[in-house]
Amino acid sequence: MAKIFGIDLGTTYSCIAYVNDYGMPEVISNKESSPVTPSVVAFEEGGAVSVGNAAKETLNSDPQNVCTTIKRQMGKRDFMFNAFGTDYTPETISALILKKLAKDAGEVLKEEVKDVVITCPAYFGLDERNATEKAGQIAGFNVLAVLNEPTAAAISYGMQVDNPQTVMVYDLGGGTFDVTIIKVENGKIRVVATGGDHELGGKDWDEVIRQYVIEKYCEATGDSEDSIYDDMEAMGDLELKAETAKKLLTQKDKAVVKLNGEKIEISREQFDEKTGALLESTIKKTHETMEDAAKKGVASYDKILLVGGSTRMPQVDARLRQEFPNIPIEFCDPDQSVAKGAAIYGINKAVFIFEEGEDKKAIQSNPIFQFGSGKGKALEIVNVISQSIAVRLRCEDKQMHIVNQIYKNTEIPCQQVLYAGTDEANQITVHIEIFENSSAERYVEEEQCKPLVDGELGPLPANLPANAPINVVFNIDESGLLSIDAEYKPDGAAEASVKKHLEVNLQNALTQKEFEEEMKKVSGLRVQ
Ligand code: ADP
Ligand code: MG
Repeated sequence: MAKIFGIDLGTTYSCIAYVNDYGMPEVISNKESSPVTPSVVAFEEGGAVSVGNAAKETLNSDPQNVCTTIKRQMGKRDFMFNAFGTDYTPETISALILKKLAKDAGEVLKEEVKDVVITCPAYFGLDERNATEKAGQIAGFNVLAVLNEPTAAAISYGMQVDNPQTVMVYDLGGGTFDVTIIKVENGKIRVVATGGDHELGGKDWDEVIRQYVIEKYCEATGDSEDSIYDDMEAMGDLELKAETAKKLLTQKDKAVVKLNGEKIEISREQFDEKTGALLESTIKKTHETMEDAAKKGVASYDKILLVGGSTRMPQVDARLRQEFPNIPIEFCDPDQSVAKGAAIYGINKAVFIFEEGEDKKAIQSNPIFQFGSGKGKALEIVNVISQSIAVRLRCEDKQMHIVNQIYKNTEIPCQQVLYAGTDEANQITVHIEIFENSSAERYVEEEQCKPLVDGELGPLPANLPANAPINVVFNIDESGLLSIDAEYKPDGAAEASVKKHLEVNLQNALTQKEFEEEMKKVSGLRVQ
């Protein structure tokens, strides 16, 4: 029977879920009996690859062959992880994590994992989303969708509510921070605004402990700090110990880290004080996103949902209570809600995209469509675009500027038409440059932009005056994919128009050839 899987491919931990025969989302534990699997990949000589806890443990014995936090590299072209003479792309490393999740889940359910929805942070741009999808394909999946993590968490939560609510999802994971404002109604989920910080997560809290331990250790022993920072094994070992100590501080008032026999104690108070600036920066981002939502009419909140493993730290709840005393705060299954929401989304999506047949019938018979938010029909999800789209134009000041046309947090699908004109008389072609950026301002600096399109419209008819009409039509579909058409469109019907579809060129995407090479590399590895 066809099952659809939801996969939370996290920076530090990953998780896989499906909707069971009772219509309930359920996480499938890995072979080590844990519902979450560390997103850590360790290569061994001879092609064996371990993923998860075993790989994480290898950090203190063979750190150079262990890859962690690969998600921070997704969509980047210049990163390769080298192990035993072979280079692996971020897509491939991620594929190995996905393979481990799929292998273990497949053994439990006695069914191959094939159709999946994979989640990513809301602020991932087109390159990162493409890399996420490619990772799934390298792992051998049919990727039905790449879904925003907070949307997935809201779907899980939305299953349990009947009355319309405005919720803020505060997701502090291992490597990323995401804040998303969502309206949840019966069977309907509408994302209003999204923001966050790519480079902020529990790992940074770990790092504060690691630095503190090194400082105190050196104070006590007289060793130089550099000698420890240069020792990869010691640093790998301390990374594990720092995370363990941090988790202990969630439960207890103090924790002890042992380094070369020396015991270094850290209290929760010290920890909270030293990590205060990190926490403050999440509050700042939260306010920025609330301002975006306010512009779209959101004036009050029914709930703050805490998602992500790092929201377990008592400082998070305490600080949010202080900042937002009137909004109830709720833990939303911090480790599992994203994977569960992705599974629910997947089964809803499959109803639309599967052809009529046994698989579709089996999916439609799942009781999830009979109760909860579904109430007999598929969920409706309205998303927003997470990055702004801009074009290079000559402006009123006669200078060329990069000008936003579609602003981030615009509901998708959407269409926008730019009515522009040729720059000079007798222009034969028009050069069109389109960029992605995270700015909400009209004018954007080039350094903030990632090029998406560098194309040409032409040949135009001869002898055109300056400012001959050129339209650029931007279309963004429901999954956030952009397509662009440029057109010379004269008023009089006598002249024929000149039209061109412009390819969005994801600079960092794997080519078909590279994709095949990566597939080959993976087939030569044994994931365990
Ligand atoms: P991601 O999706 O970014 O991988 P997760 O949402 O799975 O992240 O959260 C992982 C982070 O949560 C890690 O940094 C981990 O150390 C932290 N974490 C997990 N449990 C606890 C805990 N009990 N106390 C503090 N931090 C925790
Ligand atoms: Mg996460």
